[in-house]
Amino acid sequence: PVTVVGSINIDLFSYLDRWPKIGETVMVRETANTLGGKGANQAVAATKLRANATMIGAVGEDGFGRVAADQLAAFNVTADLIEKRDCGTGMAFIDVGPEGDNIIRLASGANGQMQPEDLGPHSNQLNQSGVVLLQNEINLETSLKAAELARGGGALVIMDPAPAPHPAWTKDVIAAFDVLTPNASEAGAILGATPETLEEARDGARHLRTFGLSGAIITLGEKGVAWSFGDEDGVEPAPSVTAIDTVAAGDCFNGALATALSEGALMRSAIRFAMHAAALATTRKGASASLPTRDEVDRFYAP
Ligand code: ADP
Repeated sequence: PVTVVGSINIDLFSYLDRWPKIGETVMVRETANTLGGKGANQAVAATKLRANATMIGAVGEDGFGRVAADQLAAFNVTADLIEKRDCGTGMAFIDVGPEGDNIIRLASGANGQMQPEDLGPHSNQLNQSGVVLLQNEINLETSLKAAELARGGGALVIMDPAPAPHPAWTKDVIAAFDVLTPNASEAGAILGATPETLEEARDGARHLRTFGLSGAIITLGEKGVAWSFGDEDGVEPAPSVTAIDTVAAGDCFNGALATALSEGALMRSAIRFAMHAAALATTRKGASASLPTRDEVDRFYAP
């Protein structure tokens, strides 16, 4: 099984015909609300790819906590939710302007209140997972506790360091995880130099290994992926697609990677599977809604 420990948000979209000025009210053309947060997106990605995935995350006592629980259930994700008192559910307020540009205000809410001790009741789940997937949208101490509990049971711990850690993580923090999956700018924040080419990214992945990781995978958007794991490394050019919305491409990649690894795939084939799933996600609008099913990936990619 795959267990995701991370953020759960409700994303509230407003589509605007023009940007208001400070102090002004404008009418919204259209609204939408969806499940979001990197943790929830990655759990949905894995479940749609038929992983046996469980999401551990926090919601507030407000109505949005119930909305998040309903949404996770609608995507068939098993959710172990921690209900936090005196705070709201994580919320992203996303205003989309006439040109498709956006302004996002993010309230971490319950995500930011999730403490290491909240994981106590979930230690069996973490212990019995083959792969545990983490991101940088909850407190680092809580992610480190999740990694420790997961490793106690022999799980492979994958950390997607998104958003980029500031200040950069120390060697000790990085060594608490098994595999790191930064994108180019996150790799730059950790290594001090942003890789531009797949070859530079492969060097970056090798460099990350020296921090005590068993693997590092750097994603470079439409260019593809570079990786280093065990005695192997490689560069994998991305399949060419007509991308219309790259939101959640990284989340799809991580959820798919965890799915394939939990099924026993070798790293190279897990990365190729994840790259094809992520490429498909870029051909559709939205976050959770754009994530492909297993059948869709199987039709697109025959290894
Ligand atoms: P993030 O979404 O976290 O910023 P990337 O932009 O690197 O990360 O995207 C993650 C992965 O999604 C890439 O490594 C690639 O496999 C896939 N991907 C992203 N954009 C495209 C694209 N335009 N065409 C094909 N694949 C893409």
